[in-house]
Amino acid sequence: MFGQASRELAQAVADSGYRPDLILSIARGGLFVAGSLGYALDVKNLHVMNVEFYTGVDQRLDMPVMLPPVPNAVDLSGARVLVADDVADTGATLKLVRDFCADHVADVRCAVIYEKPRSAVRCEYVWRRTDRWINFPWSTLPPVVQRENQVLDA
Ligand code: 5GP
Repeated sequence: MFGQASRELAQAVADSGYRPDLILSIARGGLFVAGSLGYALDVKNLHVMNVEFYTGVDQRLDMPVMLPPVPNAVDLSGARVLVADDVADTGATLKLVRDFCADHVADVRCAVIYEKPRSAVRCEYVWRRTDRWINFPWSTLPPVVQRENQVLDA
């Protein structure tokens, strides 16, 4: 499903005539999307922004916050940027990133797998729309912990 989703998302970008110079992924969920889009659109210039907002299912901080390292504005300067994330829910995360880019870049557009109706940002490229909580394969299970009595391989 994810392979097909990211491929179709990339096709929508290509069909629109947008040729991004770089893809800016929003970690962590956007890393998967950005990597796939990078291959499909033949873009090797990938950047990362770390934004923290959600602490659980529909549990949020008051506002999204950028965590260091923040991308160097010089690296983005004058570029056509494609921001990639897994889902635009309230849209606050994408708004923060898009506003951060707006002063520096030539053009900034957003691509997401899912967009919810309440999103404050209307993404240019959306694979599917839903108003439900989405369980992605990479973030549904809790972090792994070290098990006891495991033989460590060198
Ligand atoms: P927003 O700022 O649009 O409210 O939320 C953006 C981020 O919150 C997403 O990149 C994702 O990490 C997380 N998030 C929001 N809604 C969902 C959801 O339905 N499922 C999952 N797994 N994460 C979500």
